[in-house]
Amino acid sequence: MQVRNGQAKEIEIRLDPHGGIGGRCSRCRRRAPGYDRLSERRWQFVPLWGISTYFYYAPRRVECAEHGVVVEHIPWSEGKRPVTSAMMGFLARWGRRLSWRETAQVFQTSWEAVYRSVEWIVQWGLAHRQLQGVESIGVDEIHWGRGLKADNFLTVIYQIDQHCRRLLWIGKRRSEATLKRGLKALGPELVQGLRFVCSDMWRPYLKVIAAQAGQALHVLDRFHITLHLNQAVDQVRRAESSRLRKAGKEKAQRLKNLRWTLLRRGSRVRGRARQKLAALVTSKLATARAWQLKESFSHFWTYRSLVWAKAFLDYWCSRAMRSRLEPLQKVAKMLRSHEELLLNWFRAKGEISNGVVEGLNNKIRVVTRRSYGLRTYNAMEIALYHNLGRLPEPESTHRFC
Ligand SMILES: [Zn+2]
Repeated sequence: MQVRNGQAKEIEIRLDPHGGIGGRCSRCRRRAPGYDRLSERRWQFVPLWGISTYFYYAPRRVECAEHGVVVEHIPWSEGKRPVTSAMMGFLARWGRRLSWRETAQVFQTSWEAVYRSVEWIVQWGLAHRQLQGVESIGVDEIHWGRGLKADNFLTVIYQIDQHCRRLLWIGKRRSEATLKRGLKALGPELVQGLRFVCSDMWRPYLKVIAAQAGQALHVLDRFHITLHLNQAVDQVRRAESSRLRKAGKEKAQRLKNLRWTLLRRGSRVRGRARQKLAALVTSKLATARAWQLKESFSHFWTYRSLVWAKAFLDYWCSRAMRSRLEPLQKVAKMLRSHEELLLNWFRAKGEISNGVVEGLNNKIRVVTRRSYGLRTYNAMEIALYHNLGRLPEPESTHRFC
């Protein structure tokens, strides 16, 4: 034990090979005759009683019949890493509860060591995960970092089956090439076994899904349609509000601070916001009409019969087209041109629950926000697999947390 100023600084554990037992080849794990001994190395172990703990050991080299002169197999170590596998598992588990920086601080190690530990466990998990039985996937784009460059978007593929919801794949950009890469990584067996695919109306995704998973029912889900409707209402509100302000009309007051109220579902608006909304509805402002159109669309999802749902869609779209509200006309056009995919929602009824994709997207946001220190794409990708991939972990003899 190293002590400085009366405080325990470090525990050193020195290890020696058993005299009677020879080393094993680190590549094939078979016994092999000894060759020589390397100089001493150290590995960080899980802190004991809150004190940094290190293993010290001079590895032997063995001469394997098949692999030649190699370093012996060391049971607590993985390759050339300076951290024991027990410590890597320990850091990785804490790295899920705390940010990586906090984990490093609490356990007296570096951010880099936490990163490498999570990376190791994620790579192991990806290599050992089971992909059988995946029937439904959700494909989505998420925004990352600042700006709207192509590199600021990521494509994610989720499994959204009732029994298992997890992140399956993540890749840079949101092009056709990205999704093709993702589906390739998951393998043709998985893609051909799909029954449902859920996505937004993003053209590159639609194209790739139609070409590669044509047997699956492709569903446009409620979450994304609502997003488009909300954006349209917000565009109408912003345009109208600046128009009124220029004209100096007091009506502009009516639109103040209404942004979030308008985006919520009408039945969930309470109190003063509700009064303001009621006043707006009677005002005949364009924003009011846009909001009413958006609200009435929610009726679509309640139908049980495909025929009636289709009739409602036709009715709603023609109302929107007559509304003279350009953003809503745009949405109506988009819905019309994807009518079949929209109606697939009813064909898949009961198989895909409503908020799955939205829920997973929210979790992604939590991880990317908490892991503020994840400056590089690679670190973020690893953090996301680690938190949302439900990956298996290597068996460890030590479980410290
Ligand atoms: Zn060997």
